[in-house]
Amino acid sequence: MRTLLRTTAVLASGLCAAALATVPVPASASTGGAVPLGRRTLPANDGWAAATTGTTGGSAADDAHVYTVTNRKELVAALAGGDATPKIIYVKGVIDGNTDDTGAKLGCDDYAVDGYTLPAYLAAYDPAVWGRDTEPSGPLEDARAASSARQTARIRPKVGSNTTIAGLGHAVIKGLNLHVDKADNVIIRNIAFQDAYDCFPQWDPTDGDEGNWNSLYDNISVTGSTHVWADHNSFDDGANPDSAQPLYFGRPYQVHDGELDITNGSNLATVSWNRFAGHDKTMLIGSTNNPATDSGKLNVTVHHNVFDTILQRAPRVRFGQVHVYDNFYNVPAGAGYVYSFGVGVQSKVYAEENYFRLGQGVGADQIIYNWGGTAIHATGTLVTSGATTRRVDILSAHNATHDPDLTGDVGWTPTLHTKVDPAVLVPLTVPLLAGAGRLR
Ligand code: CA
Ligand code: CA
Repeated sequence: MRTLLRTTAVLASGLCAAALATVPVPASASTGGAVPLGRRTLPANDGWAAATTGTTGGSAADDAHVYTVTNRKELVAALAGGDATPKIIYVKGVIDGNTDDTGAKLGCDDYAVDGYTLPAYLAAYDPAVWGRDTEPSGPLEDARAASSARQTARIRPKVGSNTTIAGLGHAVIKGLNLHVDKADNVIIRNIAFQDAYDCFPQWDPTDGDEGNWNSLYDNISVTGSTHVWADHNSFDDGANPDSAQPLYFGRPYQVHDGELDITNGSNLATVSWNRFAGHDKTMLIGSTNNPATDSGKLNVTVHHNVFDTILQRAPRVRFGQVHVYDNFYNVPAGAGYVYSFGVGVQSKVYAEENYFRLGQGVGADQIIYNWGGTAIHATGTLVTSGATTRRVDILSAHNATHDPDLTGDVGWTPTLHTKVDPAVLVPLTVPLLAGAGRLR
């Protein structure tokens, strides 16, 4: 322990040519400053997205298919170019999804139709009135769905194949859900995604023991897609965090879904050097227990990301062979932490050399949560708790306080990856280098 802490102090004191020299250089640097951001490709072996054909996005675009977009209308027009033609879309400045074609802000009232208001919805489906046995139906639920469809049409553009979306400088996309759907070969880099809020959350009294409010929009949804690289992005809810939402019917009025969800038979994705912050359900890999959709798919690599004040799903996995390494987790006390690694049905998470800073009262036995899986490989986990930093066997910690026990044998060993750094380097490097606004 003493040796470890001294090593940490020495490394931190310089920050540190020694540490940086042993850290995998971000792809932006390894491919050289002379190559424009939009023309850079996923490095060889950099996670599951490097499998088979690799991931080149729109890097081969001809000059006619290189766009710089500054508002929602321009972004949607650039995305509409079809699957076959490589395209590079540079995002400049702040793009707000909830705007009309003149750029004017749209509020939730602008989408509402057929008499939907939140007070009317709350009155109609109050458990004291509606009960808890069936999902809402009838005119107000129909009005909610119709209103929701109007918001979806505005803020959920599809991203097709052979596309690179890259932020210039400090680019922001807020109130928008990029939907990578049935696409192959997509790169999304250097963008700060904020607050993809749903104006029309749906109450479901049958979801869980107490019911739940469910929302539609992730910042990025990847469905039925392959070869996706999300790198050096930031994800948060801006001035509208989950923690600030009211309770209705005793449950949090949840206006966000995931930050980056990978579902519906998607496969071969690399999620690297991103910063996820201040959010509840963050990264869902697999949304159904039905093996017909996802068995043999959902293979994802998650490395060198920051998960700061994330309550759950970092990630939550079903089916996939998911390599989770060198990530930085900050779990403050009193924030409502649930878990980080969700072990779902037939999931095969291989976690190694991750670093956790746990606040007072947060136990290392909370890091893993069993959602119906049987196994997780978790080695090299470094945990700081109070003044102590030590290696923790988080699988044993989980098994000591939960039943049934999980095993450590997930039946595979990752081969597609960049250098796996010792976890002691993670707190020194990843918070400095992860997130948007750092690539040029
Ligand atoms: Ca989602
Ligand atoms: Ca046990």
